[in-house]
Amino acid sequence: MSTHHASYTTYRGRLAPSPTGNLHLGHARTFWTAQQRARSRGGTLIFRNEDLDSARCKPEFVSAMFDDLKWFDFDWQEGPDCGGQFTPYNQSERMNSYRAALDQLRATGLIYPCTCSRKDIAAAAHAPHAEDDDEPIYAGTCRPTQSSKLKVEGCKLDDRAEQPATFNLKPSTRFSWRFKVPDGETISFTDNNLGPQSFVAGKDFGDFVIWRHDDVPAYQLACVADDAAMQISEVVRGADLLVSTARQILLYRAIGLRVPEFFHCTLMTDDAGVRLAKRHDALSLRKLRELGESPATLRSKW
Ligand code: GLU
Repeated sequence: MSTHHASYTTYRGRLAPSPTGNLHLGHARTFWTAQQRARSRGGTLIFRNEDLDSARCKPEFVSAMFDDLKWFDFDWQEGPDCGGQFTPYNQSERMNSYRAALDQLRATGLIYPCTCSRKDIAAAAHAPHAEDDDEPIYAGTCRPTQSSKLKVEGCKLDDRAEQPATFNLKPSTRFSWRFKVPDGETISFTDNNLGPQSFVAGKDFGDFVIWRHDDVPAYQLACVADDAAMQISEVVRGADLLVSTARQILLYRAIGLRVPEFFHCTLMTDDAGVRLAKRHDALSLRKLRELGESPATLRSKW
């Protein structure tokens, strides 16, 4: 499948950090690209706080995130702090919209409940997955057969708790929802930075979680629902998310949403060539600020 992108008349970009730790220079470089691309087109930059994972997201990281980005000279036109036409901009306040997306996906018959634990999945994983991508290829243990798929299509879709019965699960069973990928299909798109990209469903990535077993929407679903609702015309993100972009294109297609354009930024590495992560405290914006570094000087080294 090659992807036809949205033809939006105005540019809308976004910064979508997760408040799970201090932002580092690598985040700042990707975000700066997002900001520059929005500015150069006279567009709008949206700030979305991706705070769905309540176990990992901490309020002190939220305030640090705003502080650090303001210090670095970021400036957005819509966000939790300044409002905008697509409020709210905190993902934790957008559950209704994610539930609506879940319902739409259920109606397609393309998702199924999965009771596998993390351990089951690791033990049954088909093949090593792309180095940068953190979701192992799912072996299909809970993937429905053709006949149970027909049952799903025929079932009433009003309450999430009803669905597992269709799959013969006890009501108390914890499960996640997985999206069934079209095995063997090539998902292609033209990245505005890296050029033509293609990933094969079932080989480069497998059936992926769209709703977690702890009843939290997974990143893939929340991101697609929000980028579509907020009318994002171009998604600027790190190249570690290229495979996720392919997954997300499948979700846009399944729900019938307009696919944005994509611009993936190469990732920043430390002096030893290791990709920056939130644990690299030495390169956190916090630390650099404490050390008296100036954002303009830091940017001039990019
Ligand atoms: N919150 C995600 C992250 O920080 C956003 C990724 C994206 O740009 O879609 O990794």
